[in-house]
Amino acid sequence: MSETVETDLRRVILQTLESWHAAGISHLTSIPVLEAPAPTPAEAAPTSATAADTEPTRPQESSTETTSDMAKKPVAAKPQTGLDQPAEVAEQAQAELRSGKSLPQAQRITELQVLQQKVAQCTRCTELAETRTQTVFGVGNPEARLVFIGEAPGADEDAQGEPFVGKAGQLLNKIIEAMKLKREDIYICNILRCRPPGNRLPSPEEAGHCREYLDGQLGIIQPEYIVCWGSCAAQNLLNETTSIGKLRGRFFQYGGAQVLCTYHPSYLLRNPAAKKDVWEDMKILMKEMGLPID
Ligand code: SF4
Repeated sequence: MSETVETDLRRVILQTLESWHAAGISHLTSIPVLEAPAPTPAEAAPTSATAADTEPTRPQESSTETTSDMAKKPVAAKPQTGLDQPAEVAEQAQAELRSGKSLPQAQRITELQVLQQKVAQCTRCTELAETRTQTVFGVGNPEARLVFIGEAPGADEDAQGEPFVGKAGQLLNKIIEAMKLKREDIYICNILRCRPPGNRLPSPEEAGHCREYLDGQLGIIQPEYIVCWGSCAAQNLLNETTSIGKLRGRFFQYGGAQVLCTYHPSYLLRNPAAKKDVWEDMKILMKEMGLPID
């Protein structure tokens, strides 16, 4: 991490600590538990998976690891600060970012910018850092009620530096329009911030490396709702092994957000029949959010 980024990050943390002090906060409570409900025995019971249940994700140019392989190795979500200061202070500051306190818009923008600078210099995943064109941090409304999480940047995203801008992104835009929302209303990011070569699936190690940034973004934005697009996003965020076909259509809890999982737009491009399932999921979300449904 460069001195500039580290200085910015330290400044934000100190400002946060000073604002707590001014507000009369003398100590911090523990980090809220960010975990999905354990699957019920019925959910966990093995069943014969349909093609839709297993939902192959993006077209793979090459892949050494399957989604189920990844799911067998749960990703640790332990935050890493990378800060040269007492770990206790750094962890407390990061805990505050994840504690459900609502931040002013200007502070959200600043903290997202600081995090984005840190991500831009990240080399935790050696292969991805060497092959990426650029990091793809996330885009959208820093005060969004709704956050979309996808898998990882593809070729178009790697080239443009924005998530969901290829064909799958265009389909996502149509879904957003059908919900009578605008892309700017939502915050959009991925499990990974760098493109895996050949569009292969993220490895568990890569997802673990990038988790701090995902949790950092969610901690700053504090969404009420999250949609996980595809099995990679759903299984990683919720630390689940259940297929996407069984995760979809109901809410999970992650921190203060309700999480809905559904099929990835790339899957819909190859399996248009599943569009009706996604629309059913979106109607569940819209009803919960109080959005009008025609
Ligand atoms: S995928 Fe995430 S953790 Fe890995 S190098 Fe990119 S930004 Fe860093």
